[in-house]
Amino acid sequence: ALPSPKPMIAGNWKMNGLKASAAELGQIMAGYGADLRGKVDLAICPPATQLTTFAVVALGSRVLIGAQDCHAKASGAHTGDISAEMVADTGATHVIVGHSERRTDHAETDATVHAKAEAAWRAGLVAILCIGETEAERRGGTTLSVVDTQLAGSVPEGATAANLVIAYEPVWAIGTGLTPSNADIAEVHAHIRQRLVKRFGAEGEGMRILYGGSVKPSNAGEILKIADVDGALVGGASLKAVDFLGIAAAY
Ligand code: PGA
Repeated sequence: ALPSPKPMIAGNWKMNGLKASAAELGQIMAGYGADLRGKVDLAICPPATQLTTFAVVALGSRVLIGAQDCHAKASGAHTGDISAEMVADTGATHVIVGHSERRTDHAETDATVHAKAEAAWRAGLVAILCIGETEAERRGGTTLSVVDTQLAGSVPEGATAANLVIAYEPVWAIGTGLTPSNADIAEVHAHIRQRLVKRFGAEGEGMRILYGGSVKPSNAGEILKIADVDGALVGGASLKAVDFLGIAAAY
């Protein structure tokens, strides 16, 4: 088995951030000292309009920059879309695929997400691939089977510990202030790990599984110490450098 993956804290800025927000990135870089760098990888996923600026600002800082989505095709007649190749061209190294807001707002299916993850790899990007159950699915007791279906349908062959990060984000926990119990998080993460190992062998041991959904400095400590939680995907609390660094410091 590979050693436990180095944890990652990734910030998903969603549709927030103007050019002045590069100052916030500067504060994150300033707070990402040698001790923190040794313990945890940090990534920021700004809106597409800021990708190039952020990638330039972050150069040499070891703060990773990612996009929030990409198109499955490399180029062509797709007005308003951005390809993985374009994301890579900005200097970004990561891309979120299959976020629940994309699945809902843009009707992305597991097949769409599968194609986008392959596009990410084609362009040399790391895919941060999101899965997670809705509130109704959680109440109906189908969380683990929902996660299985999403993993099987959206994670392509060719996934490695280096090119894939899974983000488990219960839809009902995103932006709501609600989080599953530690036992529930542990159960789902252990289940995802088992599925990844079953399919990808030792590579599956090294794949990071991030938890996402209402992570903040005050709950990060307990969430991040749960087995098979290899970091966090953070929305709201990633917009302020002090909060984002506070979460990273929980390690
Ligand atoms: P939140 O969002 O931290 O604001 O709940 C998480 C996400 O959607 O990645």
